[in-house]
Amino acid sequence: MRALWLEDRTLSVRGDLPLPVPAPGEARVRVRLAGVCGTDLELARGYYAFAGIPGHEFVGEVVEAADRRLIGRRVTGEINIVCGSCSACRAGRASHCDNRTVLGIRDRHGAFAEFLVLPASNLHPVPDEVPDEAAVFAEPLAAALEIQEQVSVRPSDSVLVVGAGRLGQLIAQALALTGCDLRVMARHPRQRDVLRSRTIETIAEDAVPPRHFDLVVEATGSPSGFELARRAVRPRGTMALKSTYRGGIAVDLSSLVVDEITVVGSRCGPIAAALRLLARKAVDPRVLIEAEYPLGRAVEAFERAGQPGVLKVLVRP
Ligand SMILES: [Zn+2]
Ligand SMILES: [Zn+2]
Repeated sequence: MRALWLEDRTLSVRGDLPLPVPAPGEARVRVRLAGVCGTDLELARGYYAFAGIPGHEFVGEVVEAADRRLIGRRVTGEINIVCGSCSACRAGRASHCDNRTVLGIRDRHGAFAEFLVLPASNLHPVPDEVPDEAAVFAEPLAAALEIQEQVSVRPSDSVLVVGAGRLGQLIAQALALTGCDLRVMARHPRQRDVLRSRTIETIAEDAVPPRHFDLVVEATGSPSGFELARRAVRPRGTMALKSTYRGGIAVDLSSLVVDEITVVGSRCGPIAAALRLLARKAVDPRVLIEAEYPLGRAVEAFERAGQPGVLKVLVRP
């Protein structure tokens, strides 16, 4: 089959890859649409050791499964493939499975391909009213929703999102549903336009009040974004960190102690909930789509997605 291949920081489209064979309990999915995310760009830059087919945001159609009722269903999927028997899995924290592989990220080929395989138990049927162009956002929207799984957000809370890229936009749309007093710090004009189109208020970096917000979500993954978030959170407030920091960053931990700040790391979230919000159009991620490329031009898709301020780029196999 044809797929995008990543090896030694080099991307290429190959036509000679074997069709992935489902293991017992797994299903084969024909990929209809896949999204490029920041993690994919970081993989391509070599920040994580990975060789193979990248891609973990997808919508597809089941073509092979033991449960024949799945065949022909449009699906998206949980990206963590877990063992079910380690202590994390048994304690209900399967996304932290000690033995996990992760679709297109760790030890498992991903979605920039004609076909992928996943355990059938990882798949979520996509409601008919959710088009492919929205369903492909189910995984990153779930990651955005994870904040609300971890931190209670009240309507009276003041909340700041730092960064309005691919993930920051979804976080903002999801937080807006709570009724909280929400501001988003967006650097790029197009990012601000997209937020305004969803009636979400933006705030300029130099207008962010210090020590003010009950909750600050850091979605830039940059030291300057972390610094801004740290300044903006009030004493006894909460910082939710949604991005990884390559190379690590310097943090004044003593100030977190003195101000009694709660810091929450946040990763994968509830896909079923994301699909419900997409079905109700409570969140509409399609405003984020900047471009779509056929699989044969997936290398260009990565180049486009890596340009500053660019939101979602899709690849259609
Ligand atoms: Zn992602
Ligand atoms: Zn496990």
